[in-house]
Amino acid sequence: MSRYVPPLEEHNFVLNQVAGLEEISKLNGYQHADPATVATILDEAGRFFAEVIEPLNRSGDEEGSRLDETGQVRTPAGFGDAYRKLVESGWPGAHAPAEWGGGGLPYVVGVVIQEMFKTANMAFSLAGMLTQGAVEAVHIHGTDEMRSLYLEKLVSGEWSGTMTLTEPEAGSDVGSLRTKAVRQDDGSYRIFGTKIFITWGDQDLTDNVIHLVLARTEGAPPGTRGISMFLVPKFILDEHGEPGERNDYKIVSLEHKLGIHASPTCVVAFGDGGEGAVGYLVGDEMEGMRNMFTMMNAARIGVGMEGLALSERAYQHALTYALERVQGRPIGAESTESVPIVEHPDVRRMLLTMKANTEAMRCLLYVAARSGDLMFHAESDDERERHSKRLALLTPIVKAWMTDLGVEMTSLGIQVHGGMGYVEETGAAQYYRDSRIAPIYEGTNGIQAMDLVLRKLPTDNGAVVTDLIAEMSAVVFELEEHDDLTRFATELAKALEGLAETSTWLGQRLSSGEIDDALAGATPYLTQFGTVLGGWLMAQSALAAKAGPSEHSPEFLAEKINTARFYGEHLLPRANGLVATITAGNDLLASATLS
Ligand SMILES: Cc1cc2nc3c(=O)[nH]c(=O)nc-3n(C[C@H](O)[C@H](O)[C@H](O)COP(=O)(O)OP(=O)(O)OC[C@H]3O[C@@H](n4cnc5c(N)ncnc54)[C@H](O)[C@@H]3O)c2cc1C
Repeated sequence: MSRYVPPLEEHNFVLNQVAGLEEISKLNGYQHADPATVATILDEAGRFFAEVIEPLNRSGDEEGSRLDETGQVRTPAGFGDAYRKLVESGWPGAHAPAEWGGGGLPYVVGVVIQEMFKTANMAFSLAGMLTQGAVEAVHIHGTDEMRSLYLEKLVSGEWSGTMTLTEPEAGSDVGSLRTKAVRQDDGSYRIFGTKIFITWGDQDLTDNVIHLVLARTEGAPPGTRGISMFLVPKFILDEHGEPGERNDYKIVSLEHKLGIHASPTCVVAFGDGGEGAVGYLVGDEMEGMRNMFTMMNAARIGVGMEGLALSERAYQHALTYALERVQGRPIGAESTESVPIVEHPDVRRMLLTMKANTEAMRCLLYVAARSGDLMFHAESDDERERHSKRLALLTPIVKAWMTDLGVEMTSLGIQVHGGMGYVEETGAAQYYRDSRIAPIYEGTNGIQAMDLVLRKLPTDNGAVVTDLIAEMSAVVFELEEHDDLTRFATELAKALEGLAETSTWLGQRLSSGEIDDALAGATPYLTQFGTVLGGWLMAQSALAAKAGPSEHSPEFLAEKINTARFYGEHLLPRANGLVATITAGNDLLASATLS
């Protein structure tokens, strides 16, 4: 069994050399987050997550959360103590606004801390991720009173938050939801309806649970237009702002799942006692869907991060095994001695594929988070708008490309272990099982691909995509200046041509109203886009490593260049293999007899 070792040098390299932390730290309000201070903070965070949170990953998976006879969710042994330490540590609110007790760090630093949490223990991390979403929703859309009553406790993690959308008949189509909100004379509402699949919908770690619930007010129009958002506390606050009376809802059951066993996935019946659960409107009536997107966009980045986190963990685990497991002799070797499997080219291919994809995902995540900072804090309006659109474009790619890769990489992690990967005792299987939810929740990856093609690609008549392709193309010339990177340059140039071709083809289908042809190619297009972005960012990594930043050892930098080249020469060429699929259209899908 390997232990999680936070790759601190790698985190710092990507933050500084690819995501431009120095520039971010000069922005208004972030001056305390200079690279040296951030390195110290990450060092501390890494120690905490590796020593306090990760040891509960395996036991949490084995024990799982359960619902007791009183209807209270019980978390696995050790979670209560670790959660208390987590709240004391301040990590949950590291990038939340200082005015609510947060650390006020840039988002790009916050995501590194979240990544460590997820890598250490994905099931546990989900409690924090949804709480952060609740913080953002209340901060941006709540009333002043709501902010003063709830924000500090949510930021610190003393109370947790949920995101409560899904119903049996309303999954991808959230607009079909039926949960009702009835307005009361005092301005509050009573909520009635059953929600399913609610992550960390209840637990025994905090004094209160704050649900952000989507429901339909009386007389509201059908579809997403008629949805409003409500804050529904487990315990209604008394006149001192402390948890008081238990609200009228019940945890009906917990789902038995493939993975993330420690994360309680709840069926919640609001208004089960007949009175209706007390809820408070967040934002205006009928604006619920728009406001929920504040939570959902952040959560989509958070879920994308799970693909990266589990790939990192699976890679570390597989590498440890490959160094120890002795099996087979190298073909043509004179010695008859068996060798550790890490010496076989095919095992090296698997390990390097995991490593290179993980590094590429990390670059994409941090670069997306950088746009998340710049969309609020860049100096000019134009730059703020540019980064807002860039983040909107990258969000479905971060969510879907990275979570699909997470499943693929954790599967490779099992493959490196051979038969021992398929049995639970090595632990490799847990990463694979845990990773499988990420392409499903927070909008399935199919829905992300539709978002990319139908909403993001047409933004500004396609200019957001064409500007990005132009920016990526500039790196090709820089690669060509280095003899050992010319092959990478050629592959990146070809991949960018392929991306331009499919983007144009899809744009034309949308313009001519052949929407199904565009949708038939949406998922492979998203994969192509992610793969090319990975190529662009790994090229930047290689170039930055060539410049030899003095805080890194020559060995580390040589390894960065090797891994980047592997991505450029072995993985990036796959992107153009998708061009034919993307442009094949819908005919065969439409004519198939699927009955
Ligand atoms: C472990 C777990 C935790 C969860 N946590 C939460 C939570 O905290 N809060 C919450 O509100 N929800 C949560 N969910 C619900 C989750 O977000 C939904 O399961 C997800 O959005 C998909 O909805 P569905 O399951 O109804 O699938 P469906 O919507 O029925 O989709 C089934 C398939 O059809 C495809 N599909 C559906 N509609 C379309 C379309 N228009 N075009 C193309 N393809 C389509 C989908 O991509 C998918 O492949 C969770 C689910 C699980 C399993």
